[in-house]
Amino acid sequence: MAKRPLLVGNWKMHGDGGDLPTVIAIGEAARRHPAVDVALCLPATLIERAGRVCLGLAIGGQDCHAEPNGAHTGDISAAMLREAGASLVLLGHSERRHDHHENDVLIAAKLRAARAAGLDVMLCVGETAEDHAAGRSAEVVRQQLTRSLAGMGGQGIAIAYEPVWAIGGDRTPDPAEVAAMAGLIRDTVSGVRIVYGGSVTPDNGAALFVDGGVDGFLVGRQSLDAEAFIAILKSIDLATRQISSPS
Ligand code: PEP
Repeated sequence: MAKRPLLVGNWKMHGDGGDLPTVIAIGEAARRHPAVDVALCLPATLIERAGRVCLGLAIGGQDCHAEPNGAHTGDISAAMLREAGASLVLLGHSERRHDHHENDVLIAAKLRAARAAGLDVMLCVGETAEDHAAGRSAEVVRQQLTRSLAGMGGQGIAIAYEPVWAIGGDRTPDPAEVAAMAGLIRDTVSGVRIVYGGSVTPDNGAALFVDGGVDGFLVGRQSLDAEAFIAILKSIDLATRQISSPS
Protein backbone atom coordinates (compact mmCIF):
# COMPACT_ATOMS: atom_id res chain seq x y z
CA MET A 1 0.00 0.00 0.00
CA ALA A 2 1.28 3.50 -0.85
CA LYS A 3 2.48 5.46 2.15
CA ARG A 4 1.31 8.97 3.01
CA PRO A 5 3.51 11.45 1.17
CA LEU A 6 5.90 13.49 3.29
CA LEU A 7 7.46 16.87 2.50
CA VAL A 8 10.07 18.26 4.87
CA GLY A 9 11.88 21.59 4.61
CA ASN A 10 15.33 22.11 6.11
CA TRP A 11 16.00 25.77 6.83
CA LYS A 12 19.56 25.09 8.03
CA MET A 13 21.08 28.23 9.66
CA HIS A 14 18.59 30.58 8.05
CA GLY A 15 15.60 32.42 9.40
CA ASP A 16 14.57 34.67 12.29
CA GLY A 17 11.34 36.10 13.68
CA GLY A 18 10.87 38.11 10.48
CA ASP A 19 10.45 34.83 8.60
CA LEU A 20 7.47 33.60 10.62
CA PRO A 21 5.06 34.77 7.85
CA THR A 22 6.78 32.20 5.58
CA VAL A 23 6.15 29.48 8.17
CA ILE A 24 2.53 30.60 8.48
CA ALA A 25 2.02 30.61 4.70
CA ILE A 26 3.44 27.09 4.42
CA GLY A 27 1.26 25.96 7.36
CA GLU A 28 -1.84 27.34 5.65
CA ALA A 29 -0.94 25.54 2.43
CA ALA A 30 -0.36 22.33 4.37
CA ARG A 31 -3.91 22.61 5.74
CA ARG A 32 -5.19 22.91 2.16
CA HIS A 33 -3.34 19.68 1.23
CA PRO A 34 -4.14 17.37 4.15
CA ALA A 35 -3.17 14.24 2.19
CA VAL A 36 0.49 15.27 2.46
CA ASP A 37 2.40 15.37 5.76
CA VAL A 38 4.42 18.60 5.87
CA ALA A 39 7.17 19.58 8.29
CA LEU A 40 9.74 22.36 8.60
CA CYS A 41 13.04 21.71 10.38
CA LEU A 42 13.87 25.15 11.72
CA PRO A 43 16.75 26.72 13.66
CA ALA A 44 16.21 25.90 17.35
CA THR A 45 15.57 29.60 18.10
CA LEU A 46 12.42 29.55 15.96
CA ILE A 47 10.84 26.25 17.00
CA GLU A 48 8.73 27.49 19.88
CA ARG A 49 7.54 30.64 18.09
CA ALA A 50 6.71 28.67 14.94
CA GLY A 51 4.72 26.16 16.98
CA ARG A 52 2.70 28.99 18.52
CA VAL A 53 1.73 30.62 15.23
CA CYS A 54 1.33 27.63 13.00
CA LEU A 55 -0.74 24.48 13.43
CA GLY A 56 -0.86 23.17 9.87
CA LEU A 57 2.48 21.41 9.91
CA ALA A 58 4.98 19.61 12.10
CA ILE A 59 8.01 21.50 13.39
CA GLY A 60 11.36 19.79 13.63
CA GLY A 61 14.92 20.35 14.78
CA GLN A 62 18.00 19.83 12.61
CA ASP A 63 20.16 17.83 15.04
CA CYS A 64 20.29 16.80 18.69
CA HIS A 65 22.88 15.60 21.19
CA ALA A 66 23.03 11.93 22.14
CA GLU A 67 22.91 12.73 25.87
CA PRO A 68 19.79 14.03 27.67
CA ASN A 69 21.81 16.83 29.35
CA GLY A 70 25.33 17.65 30.52
CA ALA A 71 28.37 19.83 29.91
CA HIS A 72 27.96 20.16 26.13
CA THR A 73 28.26 23.86 25.37
CA GLY A 74 26.20 24.92 22.39
CA ASP A 75 24.35 21.63 22.01
CA ILE A 76 20.67 20.82 22.37
CA SER A 77 19.10 17.59 23.61
CA ALA A 78 16.22 15.71 22.05
CA ALA A 79 14.06 16.39 25.13
CA MET A 80 14.77 20.14 24.80
CA LEU A 81 13.64 20.08 21.19
CA ARG A 82 10.51 18.20 22.21
CA GLU A 83 9.78 20.66 24.99
CA ALA A 84 10.16 23.56 22.55
CA GLY A 85 7.47 21.97 20.37
CA ALA A 86 9.40 19.87 17.86
CA SER A 87 7.95 16.50 16.91
CA LEU A 88 10.82 15.37 14.71
CA VAL A 89 14.52 15.84 14.16
CA LEU A 90 16.87 15.45 11.22
CA LEU A 91 19.87 13.24 11.96
CA GLY A 92 22.91 12.39 9.88
CA HIS A 93 22.55 15.29 7.45
CA SER A 94 25.61 15.41 5.20
CA GLU A 95 26.54 18.83 6.59
CA ARG A 96 26.71 17.23 10.06
CA ARG A 97 28.53 14.13 8.76
CA HIS A 98 31.12 16.17 6.86
CA ASP A 99 31.44 19.61 8.51
CA HIS A 100 31.08 18.19 12.05
CA HIS A 101 32.72 14.82 11.36
CA GLU A 102 29.77 12.82 12.64
CA ASN A 103 30.03 9.08 12.11
CA ASP A 104 27.38 6.37 12.07
CA VAL A 105 28.09 5.31 15.67
CA LEU A 106 27.36 8.83 16.94
CA ILE A 107 24.32 9.12 14.68
CA ALA A 108 22.99 5.80 16.06
CA ALA A 109 23.35 7.15 19.61
CA LYS A 110 21.52 10.36 18.66
CA LEU A 111 18.81 8.32 17.01
CA ARG A 112 18.23 6.27 20.16
CA ALA A 113 18.12 9.48 22.22
CA ALA A 114 15.64 11.13 19.84
CA ARG A 115 13.30 8.13 19.82
CA ALA A 116 13.54 7.83 23.61
CA ALA A 117 12.48 11.49 23.88
CA GLY A 118 9.48 10.82 21.65
CA LEU A 119 10.77 12.52 18.50
CA ASP A 120 10.31 11.10 15.04
CA VAL A 121 13.56 10.96 13.11
CA MET A 122 14.44 11.69 9.52
CA LEU A 123 17.73 9.86 9.02
CA CYS A 124 19.76 11.22 6.11
CA VAL A 125 22.03 8.97 4.07
CA GLY A 126 23.84 9.50 0.78
CA GLU A 127 27.09 9.01 -1.04
CA THR A 128 29.72 11.62 -1.93
CA ALA A 129 30.58 12.57 -5.50
CA GLU A 130 33.71 10.43 -5.22
CA ASP A 131 31.76 7.35 -4.11
CA HIS A 132 29.20 7.99 -6.83
CA ALA A 133 31.88 8.19 -9.51
CA ALA A 134 33.47 4.99 -8.20
CA GLY A 135 30.15 3.10 -8.34
CA ARG A 136 30.08 2.71 -4.55
CA SER A 137 26.74 4.48 -3.88
CA ALA A 138 24.77 1.35 -2.94
CA GLU A 139 27.54 0.03 -0.69
CA VAL A 140 27.90 3.38 1.13
CA VAL A 141 24.17 3.91 1.64
CA ARG A 142 23.60 0.33 2.85
CA GLN A 143 26.43 0.73 5.34
CA GLN A 144 25.20 4.12 6.61
CA LEU A 145 21.72 2.67 7.09
CA THR A 146 22.71 -0.46 8.95
CA ARG A 147 25.26 1.30 11.16
CA SER A 148 23.12 4.37 11.92
CA LEU A 149 20.00 2.35 12.64
CA ALA A 150 21.99 -0.26 14.59
CA GLY A 151 19.03 -2.61 14.86
CA MET A 152 16.50 0.13 15.76
CA GLY A 153 13.84 -0.93 13.21
CA GLY A 154 11.74 1.56 11.31
CA GLN A 155 9.21 2.74 13.91
CA GLY A 156 9.03 6.56 13.93
CA ILE A 157 11.82 6.81 11.37
CA ALA A 158 11.87 8.11 7.80
CA ILE A 159 14.91 7.86 5.55
CA ALA A 160 16.11 10.73 3.36
CA TYR A 161 18.28 9.64 0.46
CA GLU A 162 20.43 12.70 -0.18
CA PRO A 163 23.38 12.21 -2.51
CA VAL A 164 25.94 14.69 -1.18
CA TRP A 165 26.84 15.81 -4.70
CA ALA A 166 23.22 16.82 -5.36
CA ILE A 167 22.80 19.04 -2.29
CA GLY A 168 23.02 22.80 -2.63
CA GLY A 169 23.76 22.88 -6.35
CA ASP A 170 21.71 22.28 -9.47
CA ARG A 171 22.45 18.64 -10.27
CA THR A 172 20.08 15.83 -9.39
CA PRO A 173 20.34 12.11 -10.06
CA ASP A 174 18.31 10.57 -12.81
CA PRO A 175 14.92 9.53 -11.35
CA ALA A 176 15.82 5.91 -12.23
CA GLU A 177 18.89 6.18 -9.97
CA VAL A 178 16.68 7.52 -7.17
CA ALA A 179 14.26 4.63 -7.72
CA ALA A 180 17.09 2.09 -7.49
CA MET A 181 18.30 3.62 -4.23
CA ALA A 182 14.75 3.79 -2.84
CA GLY A 183 14.46 0.06 -3.62
CA LEU A 184 17.72 -0.67 -1.83
CA ILE A 185 16.58 1.32 1.22
CA ARG A 186 13.21 -0.46 1.23
CA ASP A 187 14.99 -3.84 1.10
CA THR A 188 17.28 -2.83 3.98
CA VAL A 189 14.69 -1.24 6.33
CA SER A 190 11.08 -2.27 6.07
CA GLY A 191 8.08 -0.04 6.65
CA VAL A 192 9.80 3.35 6.53
CA ARG A 193 8.92 6.32 4.37
CA ILE A 194 11.70 7.20 1.96
CA VAL A 195 12.20 10.72 0.68
CA TYR A 196 14.68 12.13 -1.79
CA GLY A 197 16.70 15.30 -1.08
CA GLY A 198 19.08 17.37 -3.19
CA SER A 199 18.21 20.36 -5.39
CA VAL A 200 14.48 19.62 -5.57
CA THR A 201 12.56 22.46 -7.24
CA PRO A 202 8.99 22.97 -8.45
CA ASP A 203 10.27 22.07 -11.94
CA ASN A 204 11.89 18.71 -11.20
CA GLY A 205 9.75 17.64 -8.23
CA ALA A 206 6.99 15.75 -10.04
CA ALA A 207 9.40 13.59 -12.09
CA LEU A 208 11.61 12.81 -9.09
CA PHE A 209 8.52 11.92 -7.02
CA VAL A 210 6.76 9.73 -9.58
CA ASP A 211 9.67 8.13 -11.46
CA GLY A 212 11.94 8.15 -8.41
CA GLY A 213 9.43 6.01 -6.50
CA VAL A 214 9.85 7.97 -3.27
CA ASP A 215 7.30 9.03 -0.66
CA GLY A 216 8.31 12.69 -0.75
CA PHE A 217 11.20 15.10 -0.37
CA LEU A 218 13.61 16.77 1.99
CA VAL A 219 14.05 20.27 0.59
CA GLY A 220 16.73 22.81 1.49
CA ARG A 221 16.90 26.14 -0.33
CA GLN A 222 13.45 25.99 -1.86
CA SER A 223 11.85 25.57 1.57
CA LEU A 224 12.88 29.14 2.44
CA ASP A 225 10.65 30.42 -0.33
CA ALA A 226 6.98 29.84 0.53
CA GLU A 227 5.86 30.04 -3.10
CA ALA A 228 8.40 27.46 -4.32
CA PHE A 229 7.85 25.10 -1.38
CA ILE A 230 4.07 25.28 -1.78
CA ALA A 231 4.46 24.56 -5.52
CA ILE A 232 6.43 21.40 -4.61
CA LEU A 233 3.71 20.47 -2.09
CA LYS A 234 1.01 20.90 -4.76
CA SER A 235 2.91 18.77 -7.26
CA ILE A 236 3.28 15.93 -4.72
CA ASP A 237 -0.43 16.10 -3.87
CA LEU A 238 -1.44 16.11 -7.54
CA ALA A 239 0.93 13.26 -8.46
CA THR A 240 -0.36 11.20 -5.52
CA ARG A 241 -3.95 11.64 -6.71
CA GLN A 242 -2.98 10.70 -10.26
CA ILE A 243 -1.16 7.59 -9.08
CA SER A 244 -4.06 6.46 -6.86
CA SER A 245 -6.78 7.07 -9.48
CA PRO A 246 -5.26 6.86 -12.97
CA SER A 247 -7.67 8.03 -15.70
C1 PEP B 1 19.49 19.60 2.06
O1 PEP B 1 20.48 20.24 2.46
O2 PEP B 1 18.98 18.73 2.79
C2 PEP B 1 18.98 19.88 0.73
C3 PEP B 1 18.21 18.99 0.18
O3 PEP B 1 19.36 21.09 0.19
P1 PEP B 1 18.95 21.66 -1.26
O4 PEP B 1 17.47 21.32 -1.47
O5 PEP B 1 19.19 23.10 -1.16
O6 PEP B 1 19.82 20.96 -2.26
